[in-house]
Amino acid sequence: MLRPATLAEALDLLATHRGTARLLAGGQSLVPMMNLRLATPEILIDLGRVAELRRIDAGADELTIGAMVRQVDLLSDPLIAAHAPLLVRAAVHIGHVQTRARGTVGGSLAHADPSAEIPTVMVALGATLIVRSAAASRRIPAGAFLTGALTTALADDEILCAVTVPKPQLPVRASFREMSRRHGDFAMASVAVQMSGAGDAATLQVALGGVAETPHLCRGLRAMPPAAGIAEAIARELEAVAFLEDIHVSAAYRRELAAALLADGLREVLG
Ligand SMILES: Cc1cc2nc3c(=O)[nH]c(=O)nc-3n(C[C@H](O)[C@H](O)[C@H](O)COP(=O)(O)OP(=O)(O)OC[C@H]3O[C@@H](n4cnc5c(N)ncnc54)[C@H](O)[C@@H]3O)c2cc1C
Repeated sequence: MLRPATLAEALDLLATHRGTARLLAGGQSLVPMMNLRLATPEILIDLGRVAELRRIDAGADELTIGAMVRQVDLLSDPLIAAHAPLLVRAAVHIGHVQTRARGTVGGSLAHADPSAEIPTVMVALGATLIVRSAAASRRIPAGAFLTGALTTALADDEILCAVTVPKPQLPVRASFREMSRRHGDFAMASVAVQMSGAGDAATLQVALGGVAETPHLCRGLRAMPPAAGIAEAIARELEAVAFLEDIHVSAAYRRELAAALLADGLREVLG
């Protein structure tokens, strides 16, 4: 196990051990995968000491959340509460108190589970991911970063350093709803909704999680549907989704669930 103290050191180690090393963040997905021999890295590079990956900063237009910010911190940080309340709403649904205490924002995005709450919120909010290798840095929209179930656009010499979220117009209202078999289990379907601005200037940002291989951005729900037209707007939006089927849930049930969660989420923010 290698334990760099700075991002530059971590990037150099990753370049040196490219292909044989794996980054360790909170270990809440990687360690179970290693237990099952689904991952067998020769070297682990622990990011736990890299303080520059743990910052939360608010600029003029955007909020920047470091990749090593713990999921538990999303629940108490004042900048997150002010500028990304949807993330606070979602965080209570991520696993358990124990997993949130170690699991990180960047680890969740890099792991890219289709049901994970943080990727779904980042797609809804139009977040941008900041990724670096020893040689270069790039910014990737969340929707392009998440390329499939458990797959991302990250190269094996890159570290996800931070994620930026545009600051919303005020007032802002948020709703995150999901259904899982037991509390703390991964969601069968989830819905992230944020409404920002008031009156005619208000806009909606909506995404579905757990319904397809990657979060589904509800482009058709950006404009405010009239209260009487919510069901029709949802039905139109869901036509674009190829719903997953698994041993627990049929595609048809997932569609019903997504429609019900969307209706509840939209009504909550529309008031
Ligand atoms: C019992 C249990 C229940 C859970 N329930 C949920 C749930 O309901 N919802 C949910 O979303 N998650 C859930 N999880 C997973 C948990 O949230 C993990 O924290 C998360 O998936 C991975 O974050 P991590 O920091 O632990 O990353 P790790 O496990 O350390 O790493 C995960 C992967 O990401 C890579 N990685 C980590 N950080 C970076 C980085 N900065 N740059 C590039 N690559 C990186 C690692 O190399 C590894 O491949 C659960 C886990 C457990 C054990």
